[in-house]
Amino acid sequence: DPRVHIPTVKLNNGVEMPVLGFGTWLGFNDKMQLDMPTCDKMVDALEYAIDIGYRHIDTAHLYRVEPEIGDVIEKKIKEGVVKREELFITTKVWQHYHREKDVEVSLRHSLRRMKLDYVDQLLIHWPFSHNQQGVDEKIDYLETWRGFEAVLRAGLAKSIGVSNFTIPQLKRLIAFSKVVPATHQIEVNLNLAQRELVDYCKAQGIVVVAYAPFGCMVPSKDYPDSPEPKINNPQMVALARKHNKTVTQIVLRHLYERDLVSVPKTITKSRVLENASIFDFKLDAEDTKVLESFNNGYRSNPVLWYMNFDHYPFEKVKLDKLPEIPSGLLKWKNGKNQNID
Ligand code: NDP
Repeated sequence: DPRVHIPTVKLNNGVEMPVLGFGTWLGFNDKMQLDMPTCDKMVDALEYAIDIGYRHIDTAHLYRVEPEIGDVIEKKIKEGVVKREELFITTKVWQHYHREKDVEVSLRHSLRRMKLDYVDQLLIHWPFSHNQQGVDEKIDYLETWRGFEAVLRAGLAKSIGVSNFTIPQLKRLIAFSKVVPATHQIEVNLNLAQRELVDYCKAQGIVVVAYAPFGCMVPSKDYPDSPEPKINNPQMVALARKHNKTVTQIVLRHLYERDLVSVPKTITKSRVLENASIFDFKLDAEDTKVLESFNNGYRSNPVLWYMNFDHYPFEKVKLDKLPEIPSGLLKWKNGKNQNID
């Protein structure tokens, strides 16, 4: 059986985090509803991932797969493949639960769904808040963070962090809180290098976790007008040939060499192995120059429907009409077969 050896990075609280995790957002289907039919494949892929040596799982209340993830973890512990303390499980608090007291409520629901008594990391999914009707509740993320500090003290989360914040939002959070976030999870890929934000986080001792590491390179995200490099881009293919690797491996290796953690998502077993087989080669300065040349600020996940919210973290664009918030972000059932909270 193949094995992968994924290194770890030490967070600012001493906790070790594997530098590559298993992403579990299944994406929207063409009706902008969650693509749950692929959940069975995700479960198989996750079992395989743990079998071959993945230890870090990235999920969220939003993703609706916590019950299935909990089943896989339980099974792998029973089989003796892994011990709980060897796993690094991240989940996130959705914007319905941003009041200080609600953070623990949200986390306890996540823990129950995953059959765990702690998570290794809890993140504020976005800096803004809204109710199930999609109305901006304008709750200050400083309040939300106090709830995060409380679950950290209670031992329900071993580390706490944020996601999709700006530099000014992070500065304010650090200035007015007791605990500095351990990580910041943001979109980083070849089109969106995020130099300034990454440098700021590094200077503060915050580890950056790259989501959507492939940006719009893969066919599932070939949005109209999305820029190069696509997976068959000649310059990328040449780099892949040079190292006897795939284009996606070159991308993940580049992120690793920038000291970023990444959480690629795949429900395809061969890609589970492929994505973690990046720790046996090095890119040189010329390679890096090519990879950096694709940075153009293009965001694959602009969540434009939130553009007029108080704490919207991205550049605003001119639009005649804002898209509606997809209903799947407002109300849901948890888990493929479950109707709980
Ligand atoms: P990714 O960049 O991980 O891309 C996923 C797509 O790439 C899927 O279509 C997958 O196909 C394909 N793919 C994966 N590996 C390969 C490969 N080796 N070769 C070719 N294609 C490949 O995007 P995500 O948006 O899923 O981001 C990753 C994770 O980050 C999420 O799952 C989630 O955990 C997290 N995330 C967090 C966000 C936040 O707000 N904090 C926002 C977005 C994501 P297939 O599955 O069919 O194999």
